[in-house]
Amino acid sequence: MAAARRPLVAGNWKMNGLKGSIAELDKVMAAAADYTGKVELMVCPPSTLVAQFAARAQGSPIAIGAQDCHAEAAGAFTGDLSAEMLKDAGAVAVIVGHSERRTYHKETDAEVRAKALAAWRAGLMAIVCVGETKDERVAGKTLEVVGRQVEGSLPDGTTPANLVIAYEPVWAIGTGLTPTTADVAEAHGFIRAEVAKRFGQAVADGVRIQYGGSVKPSNAKELMSVSDVDGALVGGASLKADDFLGIASAYL
Ligand code: PEP
Repeated sequence: MAAARRPLVAGNWKMNGLKGSIAELDKVMAAAADYTGKVELMVCPPSTLVAQFAARAQGSPIAIGAQDCHAEAAGAFTGDLSAEMLKDAGAVAVIVGHSERRTYHKETDAEVRAKALAAWRAGLMAIVCVGETKDERVAGKTLEVVGRQVEGSLPDGTTPANLVIAYEPVWAIGTGLTPTTADVAEAHGFIRAEVAKRFGQAVADGVRIQYGGSVKPSNAKELMSVSDVDGALVGGASLKADDFLGIASAYL
């Protein structure tokens, strides 16, 4: 069944990038043909660049995504952006529930689920992030925590077309640390089994589960070859086209 899942390597630029950073997108676009049919590539710049990047990437195989959205379509929410606005700017997907949002903005599973629903309402795919902290892993609670996040953050109606799950151990994000391949396999297998219990085997077989957390060109092949890993959500290493492409090259 894994062969039916086209891996997705998505770059989460976080709060990095100015207009001139489009040069990195240009480099990714220049190489895109080599990856077509093997792995999907997505760049998620800060919201200020979504429209510019989407216009540039139009007609290319590179998808443009956003990093967060508000659950409401419009209203008095100063500083926030709705999924509809991101769609209007040219995004095709939005990351929701990233651990930095869960931590710094105290987002709950219910809020993440509402944001995923907002993404669907606007016609965007939701990339829903889950993952345990170091303390939770040390306490042996990884699967319990991830199971609770999957249960609480994924809306009813999840399909392989409208949602991607990103398993991102919080302690591996931006630290250079990565779980063992056995730990990654355990978490991904568990998440797929949870999806199967709730949404059925066909959805579970089709839904993509990305790994995220300190993925770089030197470890991508090993991490991407773990069973049930369907691509990567990449932070720091996505800012440079060469590194981002180096990671995606795990699928060539
Ligand atoms: C992320 O923030 O989604 C991420 C995976 O970051 P990094 O690759 O820098 O660890």
